[in-house]
Parts: sequence; C-alpha cells; structure tokens
Amino acid sequence: MAEKIVKIENGKLLVPDNPIIPFIEGDGIGPDIWKATRAVMDASVETTYHKKRRIEWKELLVGEKGFDKTGQWLSQEALNSIKSHVVAIKGPLTTPVGQGIRSLNVAIRQKLDLYACVRPVKYMSPVPSPMKHPEKIDMVIFRENTEDVYAGIEWAAGSNEAEKVISFLKHEMHADIPEHAGIGIKPMSQKNTRRLVARAISHAIENVYESVTLMHKGNIMKYTEGAFRNWGYETAADLFPDITITEAQLYEKYDGRRPEGKVIIKDRIADMIFQQVLLRPEEFGVIATPNLNGDYISDALSAQIGGLGMAPGANIGDDCAIFEATHGTAPKYAGLDKVNPGSLILSGAMMLDYMGWKEAAAAIRKALQAAIISGHVTYDLARQIKNATEVSCSRFGNEIIKLMKG
Ligand code: NAP
Repeated sequence: MAEKIVKIENGKLLVPDNPIIPFIEGDGIGPDIWKATRAVMDASVETTYHKKRRIEWKELLVGEKGFDKTGQWLSQEALNSIKSHVVAIKGPLTTPVGQGIRSLNVAIRQKLDLYACVRPVKYMSPVPSPMKHPEKIDMVIFRENTEDVYAGIEWAAGSNEAEKVISFLKHEMHADIPEHAGIGIKPMSQKNTRRLVARAISHAIENVYESVTLMHKGNIMKYTEGAFRNWGYETAADLFPDITITEAQLYEKYDGRRPEGKVIIKDRIADMIFQQVLLRPEEFGVIATPNLNGDYISDALSAQIGGLGMAPGANIGDDCAIFEATHGTAPKYAGLDKVNPGSLILSGAMMLDYMGWKEAAAAIRKALQAAIISGHVTYDLARQIKNATEVSCSRFGNEIIKLMKG
C-alpha cells in the first residue's frame, strides 16, 4: 500500500506509478463535471503511459453527499485523507446555510493551510473572448488564501462583540468609528506573505515567466496591503537575489531591457491593474496578491479567456494540494448533464503537471482544444461560437477522449 502514496520529501514530490488520489465529487453540477473529468484524466494517462501508470481514485464523502451518508459536511477523516495522500481533486461544494460553517471551501483551505490559490489564465484558441487580442493573455494568479478580510474575523453591527471592539478602538486607540458599525478585521503577516510570494517567484522561474507583479492597495491600506508589497520585494531580494531584479533596477541599470534569465519584480495598485490587464495583458506573467484582490482579479481575467467554464485552479500548501474548478455548483444546472466540464478538466491537467506527469497534462490540453475547434461544445461556448453544435457535458468529455485517442 505504501508505494501507492504520493509523498513530499525535502520539499520534493515523490509520485509512484499507481498513486491513490482522493477525489470529492462535489455538489450541484459536481457529479456531472467530475464524471467527465475522471474519464478524460484516465484516458490521458492510459494513452500517454499505457499500462505503466494509472491513478487509483479514492472517493471522499464531503458536502451534501457526505452529510446525507455520514451526517457530516466535512469530516476530520476526509481532511486527514487529503493530507496523507498529498494530492487531491474536488468538484464545487455548496455552502451549507445555517450549519455553522461559512464555506466548506474556505474551511478546507484554512484547515489544511493551503495558502496559495493558483489560477492560470491562458487563452486557448478558438474559445470566444471579448478581447481583441486574447492570444496575449498568459497569466498565473497566486492569491493568498489564509488571511485578509477572508479570515472570517468579523462581528455584526450591534452585537456585543462589535460594540466591545468599537469601544476599545474609540477609547484606547482614538479611532473615529460610526456608532453600531459592523466590524471586520484584515490581518496580513510577513510570514504568510513571504511564503506566498516565494511560491509565485519559484513558479515564474520554473515556467519562464518574465515578471512577478505584486498587486496591492497599499496606497490606502498602508500597513496591510502596503506591507504585502514591501514584504514581497524583500522576499525576492532575500531568497532570489541572483535571479530577480526590481522594475526600478530594470530602468536604472539595464536601460529598460530585461537581462536574459532574470525575473522582474514589480508592483501595481489593485484598481489600476484591472485596466492594465485589459489594455496591455502582455505585460503581466505571474501576479501575487492578497486574498480579496485575488478573488476579484481571477474571475475578471477568466472572462477574458472564455468564462468560468474554462477557468482551472489549485489550492497549494507545503504539505498537500487540492485541484478544483474556479466556479461553484451552478445549482440550476444540477443533474442536467449540460455544463462545461472544461474548468475541472483543466484543473486535472494542472494536477498532472504538479505530479510531474506533464505529457498526460499536455495531451488533455491538446485534445480539449481540438474538441473546441471541432465545434461540438457545451451550451456556454455554443452560445458564443457561430455554427457550433451544442453537446452535453458527457458528450463533450467523450469528444475529448475520442480526439485524444486519435
Ligand atoms: P456558480 O456556481 O459559479 O455559477 C454561476 C454561473 O456561472 C452559472 O449560472 C453559469 O452561468 C456559469 N457557470 C458556472 N460553472 C459553469 C460551467 N461549468 N459551465 C458553464 N457555465 C458555468 O456561482 P453561484 O451560483 O454564485 O454559486 C453557487 C454555489 O456554489 C454557492 O453555494 C457557492 O457557495 C458555491 N461556490 C463554490 C465554489 C467552490 O466549490 N470552490 C466556488 C464558488 C461558489 P450561466 O447562468 O450564464 O449559464
């Protein structure tokens, strides 16, 4: 059994040829897109490595299925299993209303300390895009996953807790706060910023991106977002002194021309970057940013490459990683075999890349692109592509497999 478990040793992933990989099917459209994804991933591994490699899938009961069968939305057993298997994949999960859990997705990220939410945004021709030159879009967002206003430290207006905090801020810190305000706290730390930015820079180096942009709102929130920016530059200088240069150095020392092999570290204010990624997307490679900014920019960028149906993602920590689509459970389409499985399929390709099975990942991307070129696509793409034929979620998955097998 032991030889089937993925391990991390000295920060390096060790993947056996027949690893056991846990999956969470997910709620709403989860079962439909997972079924298609699993079939595509199995086909890619089989056609690429024949009998030499195979994934052994292990289901974890989480979300509505978990609650129905075990009475628990998210058991400690499921969390332990993800941690001990190191790599996992999941469909979207409904946020249970009134169950004391704000969001299962946020809970999983926080409990497993999956501090980097990684969302690649790369255009795949001929997916319809509102951009004039979508082919210029090739970015990867590294969103901090554990801090910021997302940490869940907040109290309702008029609650005892909010009144206590307001009283402290007014009387001890001399802050001017409106009476009976709701209160939210935005923590940001050097430690958590450094590990996120270090991962973003490593990704840029390994995948030959020219720059890492620190996206922040530090002009206004100086001691949180501004500190994120400063700690980001410090991380580059401390951990990657030979391979990174700042944008200021680029102009002072190199006349604006990037020396071969160097990664440029720059920063941009959050509101302004939204227009720059539209007007000059080619200027951005890796973007590292706090939690809330990352949430906004990744959905906005996914619209530029074909929408949520084509937006993959991963939540990565030092001990384990979970791969998942950027979108949610789209409840109105649940069980209709209708939606685009592309986002979860591309998350599966990211997972294979992460495991070092890069040939299988490439086979998936190539066949997915070929399926879109063939014009047999799910409703979301069919409504944007002239003369396309709308097919179901499962049929789209089968098209990909057929094209992969040639
Ligand atoms: P959503 O599930 O992402 O769906 C919003 C819309 O996005 C859909 O109505 C559909 O647009 C489009 N869409 C989403 N997935 C698609 C796909 N695979 N193919 C094609 N189009 C797709 O957002 P929501 O309705 O706000 O959230 C529903 C539930 O999901 C909530 O309980 C929320 O908490 C949860 N959620 C979970 C995660 C996660 O598990 N990581 C993430 C976000 C939200 P059209 O209506 O235009 O067809």
